Amino acid sequence: MRNLVVLPGDGIGPEIMKQVLRILQAVDSPFNYIEKDAGLTALEKHGSLLPDDTLQAITQHGLALKAPLTTPVGGGFKSINVTLRQKFDLYANVRPVVNLPGVFTRYEKVNLTIIRENTEDLYTGEERQVDADTAESIKRITRKGSERIARYAFEYARTHGKKSVAAVHKANIMKLTDGLFLKTCADVAKEYPEIQFRDVIIDNCCMQLVIRPEQFEVIVTENLYGDILSDLCAGLVGGLGVVPGANIGVQAAIFEPVHGSAPDIAGQNKANPTALLQSAVMMLHHVGEHERADRIMRALIKTLSDTQARTADLGGKGNTETFTNALIANL
Ligand code: ATP
Repeated sequence: MRNLVVLPGDGIGPEIMKQVLRILQAVDSPFNYIEKDAGLTALEKHGSLLPDDTLQAITQHGLALKAPLTTPVGGGFKSINVTLRQKFDLYANVRPVVNLPGVFTRYEKVNLTIIRENTEDLYTGEERQVDADTAESIKRITRKGSERIARYAFEYARTHGKKSVAAVHKANIMKLTDGLFLKTCADVAKEYPEIQFRDVIIDNCCMQLVIRPEQFEVIVTENLYGDILSDLCAGLVGGLGVVPGANIGVQAAIFEPVHGSAPDIAGQNKANPTALLQSAVMMLHHVGEHERADRIMRALIKTLSDTQARTADLGGKGNTETFTNALIANL
């Protein structure tokens, strides 16, 4: 059995985590769970958003399934998600955006993956008040950071049978920072002659995504553009309730949904567990448990095509628990 750190998190986190663990149990989970606190829950219990004990567990076991965490607004707290990504150098944020059969959306044939650089860009947290009416923020891009994310994207394309990679940037305005990112991506592209490479300016990319999303296979981009594009792309395939994500580094990997802790529906048994479940499916693939992953996906697709079963965000009549019951019955 492999050790897995489980972070039930805040808001809807504990509700959806509970159901996802039930589903893993139903396929004879290959994991030994180590549950730890993080987020607001941890702040209340231990006086820290990210207790040492939680960090040590992730360092030791290198694998975590994480529900959304809330960083309190104000009070000078640094985002916990950003801290985790920087602390464990989880440089690649991988977000597959795929139409799910049974989930009706305006678009068909969306099948793209966003590979977002996770440690640099405007997320340095280095901001300064220049004077009472002026503030500024540091955007940092390095060749090393750009090179490893570009290589990750091309390797991902190669191993997932994707034929093209698009680097998304704004190098026409930010000539040094985005210029370095783009030039580095173009250099790495030369090592992958079988994969078509192109660059797309971020604003044009947004328009292209809502007009003809099926033209994209792999998008590699900087941290902030990746954050925004991820939510946009979630909207293409049914909203935040369905899109999974992975944060991958050399020593550790943390799997988490794209959505936040959704305080507006927390504690009401309304949340859709699909995004966290699909994150768990990505994790199963990551550790080589392909058969269990495929079984869950088949049951998920079957359950999503049933309007009685699926949750309200997808126009269904189910709730968090009944959706899970139906899915387990479909396994
Ligand atoms: P954050 O800043 O952490 O991203 P947020 O409030 O901006 O938080 P979310 O928490 O992701 O964003 O919520 C955005 C909207 O999507 C809310 O109306 C929420 O109810 C809805 N939502 C998010 N996740 C789910 C889910 N799993 N199931 C159903 N609705 C969801």
